[in-house]
Amino acid sequence: MLDLDRDHVWHPYAAVGAPVREVTAAHGVRLRLADGRELIDGMSSWWAAIHGYNHPRLNQALRDQLDDMAHVMFGGLTHEPAVLLARRLAAMTGLPKVFLADSGSVAVEVAIKMAVQYTGRSRLMTVRGGYHGDTFGAMAVCDPVNGMHHLFSGALARHVFAPAPPREPDQGYLDELGALVARHAHELAAVIVEPVVQGAGGMRFYHPSVLRRLRELTEEYGVLLIADEIATGFGRTGELFGCDHAGIRPDIMCLGKALTGGYLSLAATLCTDRVAEGIGVLMHGPTFMGNPLATAVAGASLDLLAERPWREEVRRIESGLTDGLAAAADHPGVKEVRVLGAIGVIETHDPVDVARVQERAVELGVWLRPFGRLIYSMPPYAATPAEVARITEAMVYASA
Ligand code: PMP
Repeated sequence: MLDLDRDHVWHPYAAVGAPVREVTAAHGVRLRLADGRELIDGMSSWWAAIHGYNHPRLNQALRDQLDDMAHVMFGGLTHEPAVLLARRLAAMTGLPKVFLADSGSVAVEVAIKMAVQYTGRSRLMTVRGGYHGDTFGAMAVCDPVNGMHHLFSGALARHVFAPAPPREPDQGYLDELGALVARHAHELAAVIVEPVVQGAGGMRFYHPSVLRRLRELTEEYGVLLIADEIATGFGRTGELFGCDHAGIRPDIMCLGKALTGGYLSLAATLCTDRVAEGIGVLMHGPTFMGNPLATAVAGASLDLLAERPWREEVRRIESGLTDGLAAAADHPGVKEVRVLGAIGVIETHDPVDVARVQERAVELGVWLRPFGRLIYSMPPYAATPAEVARITEAMVYASA
């Protein structure tokens, strides 16, 4: 398999032929490799597998749905799993209108289209250090430096960037946001941000007062606020949604990743009645929109989330990450250790040697996927204290 992979397969952000490890099965929080080793998954398959792998309830939901239908077009047709999921997401978020998209990036594209169609304006404002996806519309609001804008510069829309948001309350920063929104309001369709946690753009945490100020400013100037909760949604930061840290409701919200418990690609873009009514016909309609298997497993995953004591679990993981990662703060190569909810980060001074970090983590039976200057983990909520301790041990060892 590895030889064939090397000959034919692209992996994320890599050249064909980049080194990979073969997984043959996954159960609970463990990945089984082809050589028989088992690794604790410190990545939840990029924030998604919150309940762990091969969960009997999620498996059963898929089997049951499969017996009815795997897929049917959503243009002019509807079905129970999609309708029930939309109703449920509306109740969870307070945003009643739901567009089902096939990936997080597409959900962001749809959010941008909604804002452009609603306002008739086409520029966006965001903050540096963000990440919103790899399609062109989403890429244009990713951090211009670590989003590699220079590779695609002629092909990207030019938006308005505020400096990266601060961790501590900072009136000067809020005033700067105010001045930027005021200067550009006439051309802005929306402000788009990841609430409280900036994920793939740098694993940075910022103060909720920034969100509150953005909500006030966007209301004052008639600009929409888009919350990209694709990484932060469904409890990861300790609240159900990142916006809950600030007590605000955006006009448009994007969800994805953990929506299906990491089983299938599905995302959603939600908006207020006002935005939906203002838009009327929304010009988007993917072939696999509202896929019955994906919406059925998402419904089952939300059932599980409602049943599991996720707040306690996330708090327990937070304290496990805090205790376990403290030792790394003394390493000379480490710039900062930070933890929020079930997210633990070691930021180093120099770019990490990805292969070496992964090798060291695998030695201790843990799967990590560092990038840039960041060794980080978002364990599945199902991870036990002992498993979280193993993950932090591997992170600290790998950062030395
Ligand atoms: N927005 C955020 C905040 C994300 O973290 C991601 C994925 N890392 C995306 C959008 C894009 O989602 P997808 O990879 O499913 O296209």
